[in-house]
Amino acid sequence: MKRLLILGGGTAGTMAANRLRRRLSPTEWRITVVDQSEAHYYQPGQLFIPFGIYRPSDLVKPRRRFLPEGVDLVIAEIERVVPEDNKVVLADESELGYDYLIIATGTSPRPQETPGLAGAEWQQSIHEFYTFEGASLLGEKIARWDGGRLVIHIVDMPIKCPVAPLEFTFLADAYFAEQGMRDRVEMIFVTPLDGAFTRPVASRHLGAMLEERKVALETDFMVERVDPEKKRLVSYDEREIPFDLLVTVPLNMGADYVARSGLGDELNYVPVDPQTLLSKAHDNIFALGDASDIPTSKAGSVAHFSLELFEENFVQYVRGRPMIQLFDGHANCFIESGRGKGLLIDFNYDTEPLPGKYPLPGLGPFTLLRESEANHWGKMLFRWVYWNLLLPGKEMPLEPLMSMAGKEVEATVR
Ligand SMILES: Cc1cc2nc3c(=O)[nH]c(=O)nc-3n(C[C@H](O)[C@H](O)[C@H](O)COP(=O)(O)OP(=O)(O)OC[C@H]3O[C@@H](n4cnc5c(N)ncnc54)[C@H](O)[C@@H]3O)c2cc1C
Repeated sequence: MKRLLILGGGTAGTMAANRLRRRLSPTEWRITVVDQSEAHYYQPGQLFIPFGIYRPSDLVKPRRRFLPEGVDLVIAEIERVVPEDNKVVLADESELGYDYLIIATGTSPRPQETPGLAGAEWQQSIHEFYTFEGASLLGEKIARWDGGRLVIHIVDMPIKCPVAPLEFTFLADAYFAEQGMRDRVEMIFVTPLDGAFTRPVASRHLGAMLEERKVALETDFMVERVDPEKKRLVSYDEREIPFDLLVTVPLNMGADYVARSGLGDELNYVPVDPQTLLSKAHDNIFALGDASDIPTSKAGSVAHFSLELFEENFVQYVRGRPMIQLFDGHANCFIESGRGKGLLIDFNYDTEPLPGKYPLPGLGPFTLLRESEANHWGKMLFRWVYWNLLLPGKEMPLEPLMSMAGKEVEATVR
């Protein structure tokens, strides 16, 4: 019996278990998933909790429900991988052996990595929405906040869902306007990037949207520390930004056991071939989802598109055949922009987000880099799609590789 061990039963690990269970004979393959918790969170929904659009209980379901028959689930914290012995050690020192290993333990926010951030003001005037608990606490804070200087801040890239801080900003603008208190809230978006977003065309569009909403933009801000007493962000080049309420995205890092196992880079991401997701160091280890170092967005959509190709590659690989389905870094993300509208971006390793229509060229129904109501409904529908189609690994009418059809190329040279 061959053993496939999947570390992490989140978005990527659950999809992999479902897809591969269908492809690998149960008489020849045992599949085991390890995760530290019984609860599966729909993370994109955390964006909506602070504004009362979703309640925390809307986002949680039992992890076991999304794993198929014939897949074992072990609830335990992973301590380390010993690749030389093809085994994984759990926190209680018990061991699980494997023939093939998939690392899918994602990435998580680390406020303690920035001096002063996780100090006395943490969860008082300093909040985050990248954890389920953090989003819930921020919701309580916003509900009783009566205005002042709101600073939305990213410590460093890469972060998962890199558009989420912008979405938070757009939603906050709409929320405070609806509450009749927008004139009592000064908003500043503080980023280590040189613009509102990573790539030039999208950065220009999204920067203009911040300006329209009277949100100040502070770029190239590399935070050195937070002064909790004076309530200020301080950068390495000695700029200071005061806040009444700071909503920060702390440094994101892969799981610590990855570092303890000697499998990660400086942020605990596993170096892989960006086209096949095979570890650069071990020929029986793959990394899927946010856990790898591939140079595209850390997003559920990337996990989904890459998994569609990985599934066939893995089946061929274990039979000794070449992996010919090569991933291009395809990502797409809805960007909720408030007041019932949203944008969509679609890109890959080589092509930046461009305006146009998606998925049907010229027809949409979604609009790329332009606000529309259809995009908002796409985003809201995504929660159902996540639980019912994405996690079970069902077929979706979307191409895994990015297409240039429907994109307006001339926009790049404007
Ligand atoms: C606020 C927010 C908004 C987002 N919005 C979007 C969006 O609109 N669209 C989109 O595509 N993506 C979005 N994302 C990103 C998306 O949720 C992630 O990219 C996706 O979940 C990654 O899947 P993953 O399987 O790699 O990691 P995860 O789904 O995070 O799963 C990792 C699993 O590993 C487990 N684990 C970690 N360490 C250990 C350990 N030591 N021992 C045992 N188990 C462990 C965890 O419990 C977890 O279940 C958003 C994320 C956030 C936080």
